[in-house]
Amino acid sequence: MMTNTQEGQSRWKNAVMDTYGTPKLVLERGAGARVWDVDGREYVDFLAGIAVNILGHAHPAIIEAVTKQMGILGHTSNFAAHRPGLELSDKLMELVGRPGKIFYCNSGAEANETAIKIARRTGKSNIVSLTHSFHGRTTGSLSLTGQPIKYEPFQPLLPDVSFVEPNDIAGLRAGMNNQSSSLWIEPIQGEGGVLPLTKEFIQESRKVCDETGAIFVVDEVQTGIARTGKWFAYEHAQVQPDILLLAKGLGGGIPIGACIALGEYGDLMGPGTHGSTFGGNPVSCAAALAVLRVVEEDGLMARALEIEKIIRAAITNAPGVVDVRGQGAMLGIVLAGNYAVAVENRARELGLVTNAPNAGVIRLVPPLVITDEDLAQGLELLFQALSDCAPE
Ligand SMILES: *Cc1c(COP(=O)(O)O)cnc(C)c1O
Repeated sequence: MMTNTQEGQSRWKNAVMDTYGTPKLVLERGAGARVWDVDGREYVDFLAGIAVNILGHAHPAIIEAVTKQMGILGHTSNFAAHRPGLELSDKLMELVGRPGKIFYCNSGAEANETAIKIARRTGKSNIVSLTHSFHGRTTGSLSLTGQPIKYEPFQPLLPDVSFVEPNDIAGLRAGMNNQSSSLWIEPIQGEGGVLPLTKEFIQESRKVCDETGAIFVVDEVQTGIARTGKWFAYEHAQVQPDILLLAKGLGGGIPIGACIALGEYGDLMGPGTHGSTFGGNPVSCAAALAVLRVVEEDGLMARALEIEKIIRAAITNAPGVVDVRGQGAMLGIVLAGNYAVAVENRARELGLVTNAPNAGVIRLVPPLVITDEDLAQGLELLFQALSDCAPE
């Protein structure tokens, strides 16, 4: 029996690989936008399992969908189709609004891997990605992740990947030609520090892909499923992707990823070219259907925009804050110096969960179901943490 955080941490250290450092929190349970640790301390959760728990913790719709599906048909592998999978596919294609084909997997990295294989089917090897980007930790997706600190220790990775700077239109034009198989963007670079791409850059990305014949891959693993106030963040720029990648929020906490290839790109992968034993599992699909239904029924896209307004009003003038960037319920608090980890730690002491995707930025990705009261309380704690850590 685990009694406290300290004991939990020491047991973790003994048995779990140190890929994350020792976790600062050992959590016991959650409800809505609140979590409790094993010592009984309560926290407002502005991180939501890294933009995953769109419906917060222990949402009745997900509990019901998953419980019910597990009692009907829990797993089939890809040897059989099933009702939740068919229903989810119809729903996702309706949301995307154009014909295409979906490959289901279990994570963001796998959604990226699928798209890498599709890009390979064009016969062109060059892939263009952005610096500061994040596409996952598997060796393929890591090859496209524009953060040397993450990929350098594992080189050699995929050959012929080139990087251009986000929001540098001249650099983008210079970096692509008719040998480029594909261009990969995140509308807001979440792991890179909640750095939004400009509408102009996103529109230019679409154009350059049209001109060079490259596949326009939009990685919405973090931005997708209502987080920025629309189903997909690319809609804000009025462009259409060729391939759309989803994971994180899609299952509301149950693992599921999707690579949605539109038009002709949906037909590049034939029998035997790819697979996943768990991908599109009935329980994951049932969870995703529940998430999509509640987003619609509860108006969570509009709620994401309200959350943005409330956060901006409370934090824009807080001590040491130089910018609040991002969109909807995906915001980055840009600090006057590299003390974001201190703010993250102070916030946790005060009872608020957030994180620092880089040394100068605090990320806020609360559940979209967060109540006004929880939001107000979390923002009070954040203001306090920002004040306590601000430079003199
Ligand atoms: C988190 C993330 C990934 C990787 O997802 P995993 O499920 O951790 O593999 C890929 N792309 C983006 C944009 C992400 O935010």
